[in-house]
Amino acid sequence: MRLFFALWPPESVAQALAGQADALVRQYGGKATRTETIHLTLAFLGEVDETLLPAAIRAAQVVRGKSFALTIDRLGYWRHNRLLWAGCSSPAEELRILVESLREQLRAVSICCDEKQRFTPHVTLVRKVPDWQGALELAAVEPITWPCRSFLLVCSRLASAGSEYSAVAEFSLANG
Ligand code: NAP
Repeated sequence: MRLFFALWPPESVAQALAGQADALVRQYGGKATRTETIHLTLAFLGEVDETLLPAAIRAAQVVRGKSFALTIDRLGYWRHNRLLWAGCSSPAEELRILVESLREQLRAVSICCDEKQRFTPHVTLVRKVPDWQGALELAAVEPITWPCRSFLLVCSRLASAGSEYSAVAEFSLANG
């Protein structure tokens, strides 16, 4: 099974981000992320044997993260995978601590996650942006406040309509 840990936005935040995604598609083309699949990945485990699922859940239960708020206030574009994404100009310190702690607990039970690149918190808004030669002139975005009170372990499957995600477990973050 293909697994990842992620923050999932409340409905109002998902709607606001979906509005941004639609506006970007109108301007640059590409395929908008469906509202119900908008998320921010904390750790990508990839293909994992089902027998490792209990260990992954236990590892996340040990994480003592605090709730926090993210301010989504910038857009980015990665040419190598043709993604347009939304992120934070100043990510909350609690997010960095949560990701480090989660990855440490996963390592402790010998579960690898993709750590080759520096963690760049991002919400993928548009995939398959048509190839762009010049610099992408991205408009400033109206800041969106995303309250984060829990995180999810999610199973990802490829379906005809795109990726389908299902929550496997939810982990609360303590009141900050
Ligand atoms: P996904 O590949 O399962 O990704 C789920 C989440 O994990 C996304 O937030 C993704 O980030 C992140 N992620 C994926 N690979 C990563 C890596 N190596 N390191 C760090 N984070 C990683 O599902 P998806 O994002 O919906 O699909 C992404 C692409 O993979 C699509 O083009 C899809 O067709 C293809 N794909 C999907 C599956 C599947 O079962 N879902 C299988 C094969 C191929 P980003 O949002 O930045 O991508």
